[in-house]
Amino acid sequence: MNCELYGKTDIKSMTGHELEEFIVKTGNPKFRAGQLYGWLHKKCAAGFSEMTNIPAALRSKLGEETTLPAFKVLAHLKSGKGDTEKFLFGLGDGNAIESVLMRYKHGNSVCISSQVGCRMGCKFCASTLGGLVRNLNASEMLEQVYSIQRICGERVSNVVVMGSGEPMDNFDNFVRFYELITDKDGQNLSGRNVTVSTCGLVPEIKKLADLKLSLTLAVSLHAASDEERRKIMPVAKKYGIAEILDACRYYFDMTGRRVSFEYSLISGENDSPEDAEKLAALLKGMGAHVNLIPVNPVKERDYKRSNVTNILNFQEILEKNRINATIRREMGADIDAACGQLRRSYELSRGGKEKEEQ
Ligand code: SAH
Repeated sequence: MNCELYGKTDIKSMTGHELEEFIVKTGNPKFRAGQLYGWLHKKCAAGFSEMTNIPAALRSKLGEETTLPAFKVLAHLKSGKGDTEKFLFGLGDGNAIESVLMRYKHGNSVCISSQVGCRMGCKFCASTLGGLVRNLNASEMLEQVYSIQRICGERVSNVVVMGSGEPMDNFDNFVRFYELITDKDGQNLSGRNVTVSTCGLVPEIKKLADLKLSLTLAVSLHAASDEERRKIMPVAKKYGIAEILDACRYYFDMTGRRVSFEYSLISGENDSPEDAEKLAALLKGMGAHVNLIPVNPVKERDYKRSNVTNILNFQEILEKNRINATIRREMGADIDAACGQLRRSYELSRGGKEKEEQ
């Protein structure tokens, strides 16, 4: 867990209690911490100058000694239908991250990044092509939601941690993010409205289960056998499917929350009727939900999206086996480069800060 950003104190990553300690140490009364916390997390203030009920001297001290993750909007794309907006945010250290706003009938959902880049190496994913640059602090995960609320003037009720990065590889900062976004003195999101997706880091799934949070856990399976999974997800060399499913059962036992599974359909790789039957057999009796994602082609790879007949067939086989399966609705397909592609093209256009793949 990190409460420092660019060498200064990262007050937006602090819990209410920690902020109180920090404020008292500066020689200010405790109640100032409550005011500050409200500005940071309830009103989502962009800077100290907005915090009008905080004395100017304290505001200027905070400005000198602490950092707020102020993002630059490097790109803001809107889908033709207006249901999806994609943001490329510039961070204070020159890195860039992507976030997506999706408008549903039931409310607004934001998909956030948890790391700059990723080291998991999934073959079909653009976020991992340049490796991991760094973890995001809790404040930088929050700020993606806060910035979007500010820019669009709309409330966000759901957060999915399904952007670039592996949140379970940034465990402590992710848990802190969850605690802050669900805090009643902040945005007060319902825990159930926070979904975190992992490629299947078994020890972290168990650690998360032990915390008994009410969030929704999604596991990226993408294959029905270890052999196939190892071909597309290097992490499968470390953890087998049986071990992952055991961890998911443990998660359910500890939290009472069913885990859902993501399965990206890649033509000729993992989309045959046999794959669907194998997947059904694996998930039998788990009450699992499967989210089928037609793979988004990444230009550095030649994976192709399954055709519609195969996708529908795959879903039908799962449903026949009483496994609930939905096909991810494609929102904003006109602006939706595959995960991490917006950032990647930005980095490459800047002269390849990120290394080109060998
Ligand atoms: N690291 C986490 C979250 C990352 S992305 C995880 O692995 O779950 C969220 C989902 O999008 C994951 O299921 C991921 O495998 C999937 N994904 C990544 N690139 C994709 C692509 N090009 N097409 C379809 N799904 C993709």
